[in-house]
Amino acid sequence: MSYTFNNRTALVTGAGRGIGRAIAETLAKHGATVICVSKSAESCGGVADAIVASGGKAKALAVDVADGAAIAQAAETLLGEFTNIDILVNNAGITRDGLLFRMSDADWNDVISTNLSSCFHWCKHLARPMTRARWGRIINIASVSGIMGNAGQANYSAAKAGMIGLTKTLAREFASRSVTVNAVAPGFIKTDMTSEFVNNTDVSAKILEAVPLKRFGESADIANMTAYLASEEAGYITGQVFTVDGGMAM
Ligand code: NAP
Repeated sequence: MSYTFNNRTALVTGAGRGIGRAIAETLAKHGATVICVSKSAESCGGVADAIVASGGKAKALAVDVADGAAIAQAAETLLGEFTNIDILVNNAGITRDGLLFRMSDADWNDVISTNLSSCFHWCKHLARPMTRARWGRIINIASVSGIMGNAGQANYSAAKAGMIGLTKTLAREFASRSVTVNAVAPGFIKTDMTSEFVNNTDVSAKILEAVPLKRFGESADIANMTAYLASEEAGYITGQVFTVDGGMAM
């Protein structure tokens, strides 16, 4: 599909690799100015440079999204420079898997702060100008783990389910200002996060038994759904969760 994001500024967290990179590149390809956020300056810098090299508009910003004060500071700087961020994609995430009895407090807290609290902080700081402009798109990258649960992922499933609750609540809070808030819930997508499973023949065969389409997804599958939700055409969709998972969670 062809969208026009000319004159739109998007911020994508976790844009340094995997799904976030694909989202940043897709939005840029359709004309958006993209602020690429990741933890390391090197990874978001590489993606922003690649976008600019291919004729797009991008800027890199290293922010540890687990740190609410760092998000507040980054948002203030960005709003000084861009006046408005029209599209916010909360994609940065980590896993620290383990069965409940072996899960440390640190593994619980790191996953909640990186995946869920980050989303709260970015929305809090960037949604107000969207509501004033009476146009905005917030897309939260959750997971089928947040819908179905997944043994060994108490922290991650709770964070992703929390993102879905936050999505629905903010959709109701911002609807009167034409700011839509939706979530995308990927299944198994081939990225660094899943390389351990995808590259293990026995484990991947077991996983694919539960995937009707019998293959892993690509980052582009998530980027395409995200670009649609960010578009003008998706203006009547809010508070929804879109699974992109090869049919796993149907
Ligand atoms: P990935 O390849 O591991 O990339 C994660 C990105 O998030 C990286 O750019 C990383 O930054 C960034 N990040 C991590 N912690 C951060 C922090 N504290 N501050 C700022 N940035 C941080 O992951 P992915 O597979 O693309 O996953 C992207 C999102 O999709 C995550 O929210 C994940 O939970 C979700 N998801 C993925 C799958 C899947 O199968 N892959 C399935 C369901 C949901 P650096 O590059 O600087 O390290």
